[in-house]
Amino acid sequence: MKVVLNLVKKEKKALFVIFGGTGDLAQRKLYPALFNLYKRGYLKKHFAVIGTARRPWTNDYYRDVVKSSIDGMVDSQTKINEFASHFYYQSHNVNDVEHYETLKALADKLDAKYELAGNRLYYLAMSPRFFGTISKYLKSEGLADTDGYNRVIIEKPFGRDYQSAKELDDEISKYFSEEDVFRIDHYLGKEMIQNIMALRFSNSILSAIWNNKMISNIQVTLSESLGVEERGGYYDTAGALRDMVQNHILQIVALLVMDRPASYCAKDVRQKKVETFKALKVYSPEEVKANFVRGQYGEGKDMPAYREENLIEPDSMTETFVAGKLEVNNKEMAGVPIYIRTGKRMATKATRIDIVFKQDKGSIYGEQALADNILTINVEPDPGIALSLNTKKIGQEYATKKTELKNSLTKEQAARVPEAYESLILNVLQGNSVNFTHWDELKYSWKFLDAIRKAWDEEGLPVDYFPNYSCGTMGPQISDELLAKDGNYWIFN
Ligand code: NAD
Repeated sequence: MKVVLNLVKKEKKALFVIFGGTGDLAQRKLYPALFNLYKRGYLKKHFAVIGTARRPWTNDYYRDVVKSSIDGMVDSQTKINEFASHFYYQSHNVNDVEHYETLKALADKLDAKYELAGNRLYYLAMSPRFFGTISKYLKSEGLADTDGYNRVIIEKPFGRDYQSAKELDDEISKYFSEEDVFRIDHYLGKEMIQNIMALRFSNSILSAIWNNKMISNIQVTLSESLGVEERGGYYDTAGALRDMVQNHILQIVALLVMDRPASYCAKDVRQKKVETFKALKVYSPEEVKANFVRGQYGEGKDMPAYREENLIEPDSMTETFVAGKLEVNNKEMAGVPIYIRTGKRMATKATRIDIVFKQDKGSIYGEQALADNILTINVEPDPGIALSLNTKKIGQEYATKKTELKNSLTKEQAARVPEAYESLILNVLQGNSVNFTHWDELKYSWKFLDAIRKAWDEEGLPVDYFPNYSCGTMGPQISDELLAKDGNYWIFN
C-alpha cells in the first residue's frame, strides 16, 4: 500500500488569523494546540497569530490571555514569553469591510517580519452565520491574495439541515475552493479514531473477518455525563441528532464500514467515505419509527432535569439522547446492523466502539453458551483495544470461559498522544485533508439526518413523553428494546 508521509521540513511557516480570538474555543482549544505545536517544533520562528474579535484589547492584554490559556502546560517562562510574543490582537467587526484593510496591513507586516512566505490560515472560530461574510471580504479585500496558500478552517455546526448546509457551502465555495476548506470534526483528530483505519487495513486477520459474513453487529456509543451547561440556548435548537449524530457519529461509522481505500491519502480515503455515505439507507417515516428512538433526561442523582436547565423551555421537546440502527448497503457490510447511541447526562463519559462477531456455529462444546467475540475500541477514557475470546476453563471440565485480551496505552504513551486540535491544525499546515469532512460527505449525511428529523417533527409526541430517562443512566429503556428486537443488547452498559 502506498503510504503518504510528510517528510518535508518539520517547521511550518504560516500566519494564523483567528476570527473569534477572544472566544471559548480559541482559549480552551486553539491556543493550547498551537503551544503544543510550538513545543514539538512544528512552529518555531516563522509563525504569527492575529487574534481578532470586536473587543478593544491591546497586544499585551491578548498575550496575557493566551498565556493564561496555556497555564499548566508550561515548562519554562522564557518559552511561554517567546511563544506569546508571536501573538497580535486586532479589534475587528467581521461585518465591517474597512476593518479588513487594517487586518491586511497587519497581516502583510507580520508576513514580512516573520518571513511567512504568504502562507495564511484563517480559523473561523465564530458563529457560522459569519462564514460567508468573512470568506467574501478575505477575497475582495485582498487578504487571501498572497503567493503562499490561503486555507480556511471551519467549525461545526455546518448547517442545521441539508438546505442550510448547501447555502453555506455555496457561499464559501464562491471564494475558496474545496481543497482550501478544512471542515473540522474534532473526533477525526482523536488518536483512537485514527486507529480505526490502522486496525482495519494493516491486519490481515481483521480484514479477513471485517464483513457481513463474520460481523453480527457494530455498536458506537458517545456518552456524555455533563448536561447542557452554558450551551442551553444553542442546544435547545439543535438536539442530540444534529449536535452529535450528523457529524461525529456518522464519521466514525464511515471509518468502520467503508471499503478499503487504495492508499492513506485524502483523495482515496474520501472516495471510500463518500461511497459509504451514499450507501447509507435513508429511512421512510415508518422506518424511522422502527429504527430510531430519542430521549430527554429527567432529574436524578441531585441533577436537574433538562427542562429545568438554564435557557431551556419548561416544555422543551428537544432530544438529549438518540439511539438508532443504521444500514449501509455496500458489498461487505450490507445487512449488518450498526447501532449508534449518544446522550447527555448519561452514566459515564465515554467514546467506545464494539464490533460483535458471529458465534462459532460449529462449536464442539455442545449446548454450552459461548461468549460473544467482541473487538472493542476504547476511544476515551483509557484509550486502547480489547478482544474477547472463548478459552478453556481451567480444570478437568470440558467447558469454555470468556477471556479478554486487552491493550491500554501506558501513562507515558497516553502523555504522547496529541490533542485532537493539535493534530488537525498540523494537518491543515501540511495541506493534508484526510481527517476533514468533504462537502460530499456532508451532503449525504444531512440527507440521512433530515429524513429522521422530519419524521420526528411530524410525529407530534405529547409533552409528557419526556423526560424518559434519569440523569446518570445509560438512556431510556426504549434504547435497550431497539436492540432486543433483533436479539441483541448493548455490550457497553
Ligand atoms: P464564543 O461565543 O465563545 O466566541 C465567539 C467569538 O466571536 C468571540 O470572540 C466574539 O467576540 C466573536 N464575535 C462575535 N460577533 C462578532 C463580530 N460581529 N465581529 C467580530 N467578532 C465577533 O463561541 P465559541 O464557543 O468560541 O464557538 C465558536 C464557534 O465554534 C461556534 O460556531 C461554535 O459552534 C463552534 N464550536 C465551539 C466549540 C467549543 O468548544 N467552544 C466546539 C465545537 C464547535
